[in-house]
Amino acid sequence: MARIVMKFGGTSMAGTERIRRVARIVQRQQAAGHEVAVVVSAMAGETDRLVNFCREANPLYDPAEYDVVVASGEQVTSGLLAMHLQALGCKARSWLGWQLPIHTDDAHSKARIEGIDSEAVLASMASGEIAVIPGFQGVSDKGRVTTLGRGGSDTSAVAVAAAVKADRCDIYTDVDGVYTTDPRIVAKARKLKNVTYEEMLELASVGSKVLQTRSVSLAMKEGVRVQVLSSFIDDDAPAADTIPGTMIVSDEELEGLDMERQLITGIAADKNEAKITLTRISDRPGAVAAIFGPLAAANINVDMIIQNIAKDKGETDVTFTVPLADLARAQALLEERKDTIGYYRMLANSKVAKISVVGVGMRSHAGVAATMFRALADRGINIQAITTSEIKVSVLIDEDETELAVRVLHTAYEMDAE
Ligand code: ADP
Ligand code: ASP
Ligand code: MG
Repeated sequence: MARIVMKFGGTSMAGTERIRRVARIVQRQQAAGHEVAVVVSAMAGETDRLVNFCREANPLYDPAEYDVVVASGEQVTSGLLAMHLQALGCKARSWLGWQLPIHTDDAHSKARIEGIDSEAVLASMASGEIAVIPGFQGVSDKGRVTTLGRGGSDTSAVAVAAAVKADRCDIYTDVDGVYTTDPRIVAKARKLKNVTYEEMLELASVGSKVLQTRSVSLAMKEGVRVQVLSSFIDDDAPAADTIPGTMIVSDEELEGLDMERQLITGIAADKNEAKITLTRISDRPGAVAAIFGPLAAANINVDMIIQNIAKDKGETDVTFTVPLADLARAQALLEERKDTIGYYRMLANSKVAKISVVGVGMRSHAGVAATMFRALADRGINIQAITTSEIKVSVLIDEDETELAVRVLHTAYEMDAE
């Protein structure tokens, strides 16, 4: 017998028939003798719809009230799943974020989980009841509803799994695992049997939204075993334990599992960045600090940075990227400080995409970046900025070339499925 936390995403919960199928998957897992708790997302599209209502109400909405509104999607699906489970003859009940409670800080709309009181869930599971927990939501120490940022139900599930010391956290979604790249963009993407926490963390943070980045760092920190698998399975499909999804594993485990691992594990694309260039900044100590200090103070994350070598006049251009959602704020802030920073012009481009290749094999192999640059050049794709880490190379390109670039790189690294 194992203790398993099962998480179902928005597409899996979209409508009566799908929730009924989810209920059957959960029931089967319990019937196999496991203790189960379930974490659910809102129905697909619902959170977007609710966010829109907030924007219409007031573009400068109160984040605390935003949380009250957007958390409601998961309240609906948790109640519905409990009903479907009861209809199948299972004992089940919902536990809202404030009822467990799931304690978070009060950074509304992007709150962090600080702790989960697990007694109630443990008691419920031990009694044969299925606890259904809405993902994405928690409660602050001021007693107000909070949400964890988009895609946050993954993080809720991993946090619940850590709190109840689950043997596994199964993330059911609309694809049957983590692929070498988004299978909806590249038909030749291959499913990965295993991916390390570190690789998944990099992949998620550079745009593979199959798992929320925070859920992966939490799983890594807490040692939670995470598996990604499809909820779109037939009633006669084998139980999750035997379905081949993707298992997130440690470096050590991987070595034992996958001797013939490819150099590159995955490729991701992110269109949610924007590029800013400040021209003709005087080339002196402190100039760059004057740009990035205020951005950091405003909580705007700068990702890629390039500073062109000074021309003969002792001036330099600085180019960097910020999240697309923060572009307007960043521009306003830099405009205000034009004289202090001392630049000539500010240029902004929101039509860029960041393409990243990730793989632990890079640590021991040279030439990964060179292959990337050559493959893109051969297709006439211009690189506007570059960053690297130990296991990742990212380039910034024109947004219109995103799909082409991902396909070209997938082929260049010999990752295409037959
Ligand atoms: P859920 O609603 O279940 O949380 P998401 O839409 O958040 O589902 O995540 C699943 C989606 O992630 C897939 O439909 C797929 O298009 C996308 N995706 C992006 N990169 C990858 C990848 N490398 N492997 C698998 N899916 C990916
Ligand atoms: N419903 C939330 C969202 O769409 C959380 C989630 O699905 O993970 O972002
Ligand atoms: Mg998701």
